[in-house]
Amino acid sequence: MRSLLLLAVAAASSLAQAPTMPTQAKSIVIHADRVLDGRGNVIPGASVVVVGDKIVTVDKRPSAASTYDLKGYTLLPGLIDAHSHLTWYFNRQGRYHTGNDGDTPAQSMLSTAANAYATLMAGFTTIQSPGSPEDKDLREWIAVGQIPGPRVITSLTALSQSRLTPDSLRALVRKRKADGADVIKIFASASIRDGGAQTMTDEQLKAICSEAKAQGLRTMVHAHSAASIKASVLAGCNQIEHGVFADDETLKLMADRGVYFDPQICLVFQNYLDNRAKYDGIGNYNAEGFAAMEKAIPIATEMFTRALKTPKLKVIFGTDAVAGAHGRNAEELVCRVQAGGQSPIDAITSATSLGAEALHMADQFGSIAPGLQADLIAVQGDPTKDITALRRVMFVMKGGKVYRNERP
Ligand SMILES: [Zn+2]
Repeated sequence: MRSLLLLAVAAASSLAQAPTMPTQAKSIVIHADRVLDGRGNVIPGASVVVVGDKIVTVDKRPSAASTYDLKGYTLLPGLIDAHSHLTWYFNRQGRYHTGNDGDTPAQSMLSTAANAYATLMAGFTTIQSPGSPEDKDLREWIAVGQIPGPRVITSLTALSQSRLTPDSLRALVRKRKADGADVIKIFASASIRDGGAQTMTDEQLKAICSEAKAQGLRTMVHAHSAASIKASVLAGCNQIEHGVFADDETLKLMADRGVYFDPQICLVFQNYLDNRAKYDGIGNYNAEGFAAMEKAIPIATEMFTRALKTPKLKVIFGTDAVAGAHGRNAEELVCRVQAGGQSPIDAITSATSLGAEALHMADQFGSIAPGLQADLIAVQGDPTKDITALRRVMFVMKGGKVYRNERP
């Protein structure tokens, strides 16, 4: 009996140690009416060749037969949302989920997985999530292909403790790193529903952003008031979120310091207003809060037009997608073009190569170029002429794997 067992163990271990023969990865050729490389270039009638998880060639005069012939479609890099909260959802009572609504952690995680799926199907192959410890498992399960979703870059829990000393905040940055955070998220100002004034002192912001830099982590800062943006930029933080009350001086300061700016002008506000009954009465989702958000839309839109006119300011794309907005992320791009006056090609660049640059991952994805991850989506029509084409995502490939192919 014992020797049989030993034999079985030996057989199992020899199986485990058997060299896995690399199967010759075959190439996938995707042809489309036009290819947008994500860096502002439009290549008509090109093919993109993918082997394994990587792009190997962009063939401008394609000769090889295509695996996918996307006639009537535009191929572009998978989109990047620099600010999405996948863990936010509406519970089965039709209310915004909070910690005390009775949902179990498993139920919450299933809702999060559904949000991740909806986001990927909408053409977003990478998202940055500020503020959820649950992201750690989500990131891993998606990365190994156990569940479908966009690549997750996460801050884990955000830093908002304005009562802590600079030293304690530095320690907290190191703890986030040890816990596996990719980025540090900071609240430098109050919510727009509470006026948006600066909440962290200049010293606290300096402590956090300099410690993060020393630890090799980027920093993204929630900041609405001009003062809170200015303090964050001077503290050496990398990315500013929202910035509804940014004035010309702070926009220029961000440009001068090479700080990425991620404003929102539409989807996040409109989504709250459309789903008011589901949020109403929870925390600062009250009459004043909703009035503040309604008022913010024209202010944010006007600020956005000034941001676009600020020379060298790197305006990236992030939606701040919350419950109700997942899978509709591209609506913010439509809005930036239609209401904010951004050119469609610039809007697309902001959500592809520039977004990857802000994540310090432009050498991995965000463009259609040889050697990068095969994150490719196809939309019906030409989004450089009609940005609403981004609503018609019919093909999604992430890391060389096709997740959606629903052409009529
Ligand atoms: Zn947010």
